[in-house]
Amino acid sequence: MLTVPPKYTTLTQIRTDLTAGKTTLVALTEYYLQRISETEELNIYLEVYAEEALAKAADLDKKFKENPASVGKMYGAVISIKDVLCYANHKVTGGSKILEGFESLFSATAIERCLAEDALLIGRVNCDEFGMGSATENPHYGVTRNAADTNRVPGGSSGGSAAAVQADTCLVSLGSDTGGSVRQPAAFCGVYGLKPTYGRISRYGLLAYASSFDQIGILAHSPQDAALFLEIMAGQDEYDATSSSKAVPAYSQTPPFSGKAKIAYFDTAVNHASIDPAVRNATLQTIEKYRAAGHVVVSVDFAYLDYIIPAYYVLTTAEASSNLSRYDGVRYGRRSPEAQTVDEMYRLSRTEGFGKEVKRRIMLGTFVLSAGYYDAYYTKAQKVRRLIQQRTFEILEEYDFILMPVAPSPAWKIGEKNTDPVAAYLADIFTVQANMTGIPAMAFPVGETEEGLPIGLQLMGRKFGEAELLSFVSNGDF
Ligand code: GLN
Repeated sequence: MLTVPPKYTTLTQIRTDLTAGKTTLVALTEYYLQRISETEELNIYLEVYAEEALAKAADLDKKFKENPASVGKMYGAVISIKDVLCYANHKVTGGSKILEGFESLFSATAIERCLAEDALLIGRVNCDEFGMGSATENPHYGVTRNAADTNRVPGGSSGGSAAAVQADTCLVSLGSDTGGSVRQPAAFCGVYGLKPTYGRISRYGLLAYASSFDQIGILAHSPQDAALFLEIMAGQDEYDATSSSKAVPAYSQTPPFSGKAKIAYFDTAVNHASIDPAVRNATLQTIEKYRAAGHVVVSVDFAYLDYIIPAYYVLTTAEASSNLSRYDGVRYGRRSPEAQTVDEMYRLSRTEGFGKEVKRRIMLGTFVLSAGYYDAYYTKAQKVRRLIQQRTFEILEEYDFILMPVAPSPAWKIGEKNTDPVAAYLADIFTVQANMTGIPAMAFPVGETEEGLPIGLQLMGRKFGEAELLSFVSNGDF
């Protein structure tokens, strides 16, 4: 079976069973390894740390047995990581051939913090190359499949992470979200996906795509686990100057949302030309459910919806063209064996190492930053970003949350959008606003289409308003 009901949906359940002696971390790890091998055809894992994980699990079980109080808050959590997160002495490739064979010397701060709390890493999962894409149809490592329908994509770019949780091959997976890459695959695979506020989690050790947008995110079976992981990973880090010094609330202790929320949505989004009827109905039904539960849900004006995608793709490709210039065949990973001269070394290493989509974006980004076009594209897109920010913050002064679909449609078929990049870009229309403005957003499952494809919606909140967001999403009102 590719999809099974998850053995556990929260770490709390696991801890209860560990404490009662009903299971051990070794047994759990064996279960997840078994799931990984049963779901091999989904092509989720690029690397499985089987032996290492079992050995570590045995150590942690011993530690727990000797003194239950000595283990960290994440003892029992078996997690996978997107192939853009550095884990010391392990491979990381960004889903690219250009980093083939590269091993990281250090761990991302987020991973370091999970390890310090005794989380267990089980493997590294597939993604779109350098996070650039929405389908996890990786040109080098193959397509990852959606466990709900193996002819369909799991979404992207954290598609491996979403499928890993969906197929119950781990409890939680860490991904990254530059324009929707945690939330959209979460929605396609029927799991929860949290993109925190920009700067909430340190980006140190996250391979950069577009640095003013990137944020590490969490894919989980439950908002409770998302809350705990956020609590552990968030907070200032001396290695990332953009990490926030704001105190980290005890997200995992957040009480259920009480009182009535004021929620905004955009009619222009719900009735957007691109929206699939099933997604539209799910959104309308959720609005009605919220209203029935006593929340105030109001359609507000947002004039910029159709400007979001053009501005996002100008800004992110500009940043990507700069960030990816470091992969030159000299410093990291792969160097072309064909190269005879220095010039050839750069050219061939990059030509052979990067896939088509990454090259397209590097070229687009280089173009929008070039002397003659800088003002017409880059400066203009920055101005659009500012307008989008101003209007979004204005809405969030009056409303607690903004409700949006995650993607215009459920998971599409493999191959359906990989010949038309613009069609794929346009499908990011609902997720990019949170990254343009830096606000937190969380995707949650709301149902399925008639064919059994998961549908997800998202709520966006105020900057650093993760606690409210998490408590509202975990609330039983809906
Ligand atoms: N699909 C978007 C893009 O290709 C978002 C990617 C992401 O969030 N990493 O840029």
